[in-house]
Amino acid sequence: MGVIDINKGVKKMKVLTIGSYQYIEELQQKMNEQFKNITPNELMPVCDIKQGEHIHFLQYSIDDTMFLKYYDHFFMDRIKLHATSAVTDIIMKYSRFDMATDILSTEYTQYTKHEKDEIITMVHSFFEMPQNDEDPDLLTYSYKKEILTILMDFLEEHNELILEGFIQFRLQSYKKSLERVVEHVVKEYETQKEYNEFIKLLRYFVEMQESKIDIIHVVGMPDKTFKIFDEYKDEITKQCIEEFQNDLQVNEVNFDDLLVSSLITIAPQNIVIHGFENIENKHLLETINNVFTGKVHFCTQCDICIPSSMMDGTER
Ligand SMILES: [Zn+2]
Repeated sequence: MGVIDINKGVKKMKVLTIGSYQYIEELQQKMNEQFKNITPNELMPVCDIKQGEHIHFLQYSIDDTMFLKYYDHFFMDRIKLHATSAVTDIIMKYSRFDMATDILSTEYTQYTKHEKDEIITMVHSFFEMPQNDEDPDLLTYSYKKEILTILMDFLEEHNELILEGFIQFRLQSYKKSLERVVEHVVKEYETQKEYNEFIKLLRYFVEMQESKIDIIHVVGMPDKTFKIFDEYKDEITKQCIEEFQNDLQVNEVNFDDLLVSSLITIAPQNIVIHGFENIENKHLLETINNVFTGKVHFCTQCDICIPSSMMDGTER
C-alpha cells in the first residue's frame, strides 16, 4: 500500500501518484472534485505537485496521524474509485480526441492539415451525439464502463499511474474502436465534400444563366409531386416536364430531379415555396437553399397554396 516518508517533519503516507505530460491541471481539478466526496474530511488526500522535465506528477498523501485515527479497511478502495472516475473523465474529455488525431495522422496521410482539422471537428460532433452504453457493436458505444474497469484493475496493482502510458499500453482495444469511428467520420467527410462540389457546380450553372424571370413559385402537392408557376402565377409544370424529358431523354419523371433541373435552367431571382408541409424530402429543400442562397422564400398562406389540396387537377 503506500510508504511512510518524512516531509518537513510531518509524517505523511503516500496514497497515490498520478502523472501526465499534457493534462496535469485538468487532472488535478477532476481529482479535487472527486476527493471532496471523501469522508471524514481528515482523510482527504493532500496534493503535492512534482515536476519532471516534461511530465508533472500529482502526489497524494495523508497525514500519518489522521490516517491511523480514521483508517478503515475500504479507504484505499475509495481513493482508487475516485481516482478512476477522475482519470476516466479526462480520457473521455481529452485523450480520446488525441488518439483520434494520432490515427488520422498515421493512417490518413492523404489529407492536408486543414482537412484533418475539419475531420477532427467532425469527430468532436460525433462524440457529442448521445452515446450508447449498452451495445458494444454500435459505433456510438461510449466505452466509459470498459475504461473504468481497466483503470480499476490497473490501480488495484499499482499506486502510480501515468496517463499517457496507461493509454498507450492498456487501451489498445479502445484504440481499435476509435479507428472504426475515425473511418466512419472520414467517409462522412468525403460524402460531404462530394455534396459541396455538386452544389458548387449547380451554383456555377445558375450563375452562367441569364436570369430572365423574377419569381418562380413551387407548390408541394399532397401526392408528393410539385407544381411550378411562373411570375404571373401561370402554371408551367408541363413545359418543365417536357424540357426535362428532352434534355435527359427519359420517360419516367422523378419530381425531385425535375424541380432542381427546372430551377437551374430557369435560374430565377426568387423562389417561393408553397405547400412546404407536403415536401417530405427536406434534403431537396436544403439543396435548393444551398444553390439559391438568399433567394428562397417560404409561403404559408396565399391563393396558390391555401388550400393546396384544392389545386389538384385544377388547370390554370
Ligand atoms: Zn402560398
